[in-house]
Amino acid sequence: MQEIINQLEELSYNLSWSWNNDFFEVFEEINIDYWLWSQKNPVLFLEMINKQYLFEMIEKKHLREKITGIYLNYKKYLQNGKYFDEILKLNKLEKPSTPQICYLSAEFGITKCLKLYSGGLGVLSGDHMKSSSDLGLPIVGVGLAYLYGYFTQYINAEGKQAELYEKSQFDSLPMNLLTDETYKPIKISIDLPGRVVNAQVWVIKIGNIKLYLLDTFVDENMVDDKRITDILYGGNIEKRIQQEILLGLGGKRLMDYLGYNILTYHMNEGHSAFLCFERIASAMKIHKLDFAQAKKLCYDSNIFTTHTPVPAGIDIFTKEMMERYFKNYSENELKITFDEFFNEGNLNKDDKDNNHFNMAYLAINNSKYVNGVSKLHGDVARKMWNLPENRPQIESITNGVHILSYTSKTSDLLYKKYFGENWINTPNIWNKISNLPDEDIWKMRNRNRKELINYVRNKKYDQLVKKGLYDKYNTDLTEVLDENALTIGFARRFATYKRGNFIFKDLDRLKKIISNPVMPVQFVFSGKAHPKDEEGKYFISEILSFTEDSSLKNRIIFLENYELDVAKKLVHGCDVWLNNPRRPLEASGTSGMKVISNGGLNFSILDGWWAEAYKPEYGWMIESVESVEKIDTDSRDWFEVNSMYSVLENEILPTFYFRNPQNIPIQWVQKIKNSLRDLAEIYRTGRMVKEYFEKYYSKLVI
Ligand SMILES: *Cc1c(COP(=O)(O)O)cnc(C)c1O
Repeated sequence: MQEIINQLEELSYNLSWSWNNDFFEVFEEINIDYWLWSQKNPVLFLEMINKQYLFEMIEKKHLREKITGIYLNYKKYLQNGKYFDEILKLNKLEKPSTPQICYLSAEFGITKCLKLYSGGLGVLSGDHMKSSSDLGLPIVGVGLAYLYGYFTQYINAEGKQAELYEKSQFDSLPMNLLTDETYKPIKISIDLPGRVVNAQVWVIKIGNIKLYLLDTFVDENMVDDKRITDILYGGNIEKRIQQEILLGLGGKRLMDYLGYNILTYHMNEGHSAFLCFERIASAMKIHKLDFAQAKKLCYDSNIFTTHTPVPAGIDIFTKEMMERYFKNYSENELKITFDEFFNEGNLNKDDKDNNHFNMAYLAINNSKYVNGVSKLHGDVARKMWNLPENRPQIESITNGVHILSYTSKTSDLLYKKYFGENWINTPNIWNKISNLPDEDIWKMRNRNRKELINYVRNKKYDQLVKKGLYDKYNTDLTEVLDENALTIGFARRFATYKRGNFIFKDLDRLKKIISNPVMPVQFVFSGKAHPKDEEGKYFISEILSFTEDSSLKNRIIFLENYELDVAKKLVHGCDVWLNNPRRPLEASGTSGMKVISNGGLNFSILDGWWAEAYKPEYGWMIESVESVEKIDTDSRDWFEVNSMYSVLENEILPTFYFRNPQNIPIQWVQKIKNSLRDLAEIYRTGRMVKEYFEKYYSKLVI
């Protein structure tokens, strides 16, 4: 019995469980209340659960066998021949003993209980790590350990978003403090004006790879310095620069401390770009070079991925600030004047009064390899940065998602039934999708939708009870959503350009669509607005007030606190995933990719990934106005929203409700098959990470 518990404990500390539905089921079966209460954190769960009770539970034969099965699969996963091993073999090379690729990001979205992400950027970093492990790449991740993470959203009595910052207990999370041989925590230090700040380091295992997180909550730091890593994307600009110094300079120093021979650094967005300076400083010392020579050397092996198609989205620091933080560093470490230093991030060098240090520009300036995250975004980025012709131009590598992390148990079982246990690793598997009976695909859809609706009802119940509103709310919860109705999902950060309140623009038309009893349709919304984004918060309040409107009630739902777990439920259950950003501001968007393996279909403006993926046989498009200059924003929104209503009324609803005698919407199912056949293989991080490997990493690593 103890052996089974040891297996569970070992499994808990490797985040490969985060894409294993069976693992979740084990904990749900042992005790679902504890599991939810622990926020789906197996380490905390095992700490808190009564040991006698746990013993009794795992005495059940099927549970014991299930755990051992998961454990053996996990061991196999760690050992299995992988993409990178094949490449080594082909090139007759030895496996490197330490990682060679370092990937840095301000956020990592891996699983619910690790609150280290705010949105798509973090989820992408997490998926990059997961797929790198699947492929066996010699990569290591670096980020920050935010003690309070990103906020938990709740809706207050006035119907507004409110924010709660919950302190994490790092000791009870699936991560370990990095210590030396004497079990003393190892420390990385950085210089801030007039003082040294130390950071301890947490390690998270994701399959075969490690993610290191820097944490300034250590005794010897002053109070304000401890709080450098308190929250993600919060506080003032001073905190931001301090976090970025820690990530960039600290990240590089950590790699050196660990003795890793890193051959390429990959900066995911500009937050880590101070790394470029630390690499140069280090190269100057090691190879006895001057600044320009060292810069050239490092430039050749830096990779920068940009995600921001608008200048306003980029971190900018003033000259005054930069001078405070970097004057000594530039003169002592880099042996250049502060003005020379400042020019590395100064977009308009000719403009002597220019006061802005731009982190994306710093990264571009110091990276031979720069890429956008969809074809369209690549074009936008090339125009935006207009790089000199004599250097490599900005390319694009379209984002993806880590399929197993978002595929429902029901869908997984269907693929297992027809494609075999190991469907995820079988090449060209999606070509076989047309062999599946329509009936089975449709059953899977109905089941996925039903599970979402149960989840929504339970969550609604929970929220009503928690807020003391249960007695006042005189609706039968079974009236919340309809199991058989077309279900459209819209969930993402409530950044203004994503237009979260778009469908409500013509309220009468929307009401007419929703109240059609023959072709019922319902919407589930979710998403957080940044605490300082009043407009985004206003959009949320607006949606909340519509959920109370008598003709929309129970057909428009807003789910509190969008995070990875809510996201999973939504992408499992929605028939259609709606996206209506202002083109071309959505660099890629990834949530729409998550519905594909669950048989969901996309309905979107042709922006980001959908601009390259869309064909009528896969889903639907919303017409957008191409030229931003020629039309005012409101007219543009009207044009686009009218296109949205028309497609919904004339194409989506009729296709969904056109049934054969067995009550199967055959045209709809055909679209699901088309989308799986042609899109599932492309819009996944397995393909994406391979592309990073083939285009960039492989030039530097092997
Ligand atoms: C996938 C995901 C995102 C990214 O969604 P976009 O469509 O790219 O905006 C954001 N937040 C969570 C929790 C996600 O799972």
